[in-house]
Amino acid sequence: MSDVATSDPIKPVFVDYQATTPCLPEVVEAMLPFFTERFHNPQSDHPSGEEAMDAVEEARRDVAALIGAASPREIIFTSGATESNNWALRGIAGSPRRRGRHFVTSQIEHFSVTQPMKSLEQQGFEVTYVAVDADGVVDPASVAGALRDDTALVSMIHASNEIGVIEPLAEVGRICRDAGAPFHVDASNTVGTIPFDVRSINADLVTVSPHLFYGPKGVGALYCRRGVRVAPLLEGGVQEDGRRAGTENVPAIVGFGRACAIAAREMEARMGHLIPLRDALLDGVRDLEGVRVTGHLTQRLPNHVSCVVDHVESESLLLALAMGPAIFAASGTACSGREQKRSPVLEAIGIGAGLDSGSLVFGLGIDTTAEDVARILRELPKAIAQLRALSPLA
Ligand code: PMP
Repeated sequence: MSDVATSDPIKPVFVDYQATTPCLPEVVEAMLPFFTERFHNPQSDHPSGEEAMDAVEEARRDVAALIGAASPREIIFTSGATESNNWALRGIAGSPRRRGRHFVTSQIEHFSVTQPMKSLEQQGFEVTYVAVDADGVVDPASVAGALRDDTALVSMIHASNEIGVIEPLAEVGRICRDAGAPFHVDASNTVGTIPFDVRSINADLVTVSPHLFYGPKGVGALYCRRGVRVAPLLEGGVQEDGRRAGTENVPAIVGFGRACAIAAREMEARMGHLIPLRDALLDGVRDLEGVRVTGHLTQRLPNHVSCVVDHVESESLLLALAMGPAIFAASGTACSGREQKRSPVLEAIGIGAGLDSGSLVFGLGIDTTAEDVARILRELPKAIAQLRALSPLA
């Protein structure tokens, strides 16, 4: 019998953690004093200001340590991944030391990379969009083939929020470094979730997003390797060594630092918990008729399962899952909104309009259980069957 038949409201299975995660209690606890008694401005020339600055610097060290930065000075706090991505691209485009007017990126980037790329194209820059294979994997040789003497920046997503695939960026980074082309990595979904080291990836710029690993929203970082020059996006203040103006969001920065310290400590255990759950869900989903897993099966985020469902619309399926068995999942990206019907990422892996309407993403979290996965695998086929029975296409 379905859980839905009981009269008591059932506890929702929340599997939308790739959209965002809750702050850990330890993170909130670290942040709280900075809203009230420790509210001071880090730029103030008195001991309380200095204490606030000390807290910001401690967080900077924690972020630097998590990604293997050579110095905390290479970490610049921003308002989040969207700003960091915009800044990396526009900051290189506006840098006096820019190599040329050519950019390279992939066909499966987040909109916070593709939209600024489009704006740059309108300003006369040239962009090469490197293709991916049917699993969503970029071939480093294609990046090598796209590089030119006037390539100003290569920008690549490390792992896709939409199809979970992890890209072979160590190789891409080596190719870029050898060619002298600066390399930006959008590591929003990987830093804090899987091991990440700027040195082994040869990254020059890296986007970091703590709300995807149990830290706060509205804060992020751009790692900027020593010697790499980016023009400022926000001007009019001395903060962040004059590189990013605006009074620091001290509570969020402190929470960010704490989330990094916890991630460093707990990453292995989290992955050990998530990977068997992910694989059980992947295996179950793959067995369903007319359902295809998107993204590489093994080279993928430990917390990510995605698929497309033939002859069913995402919106209807998500609603059926939410209203019936209280399973809260997602379709592709939280950031593309309802108006974005066709997914460029799914198109890039060769999935056309008919199938792409039924795309689903299950983002697992540290409190996801085997029972949650079992409930999804029990209820998903029922929801699909019900909707297909109503569909004129099926
Ligand atoms: N890049 C990637 C790969 C993402 O998944 C996201 C959204 N989580 C972003 C950038 C933008 O993040 P935010 O909306 O937190 O700024």
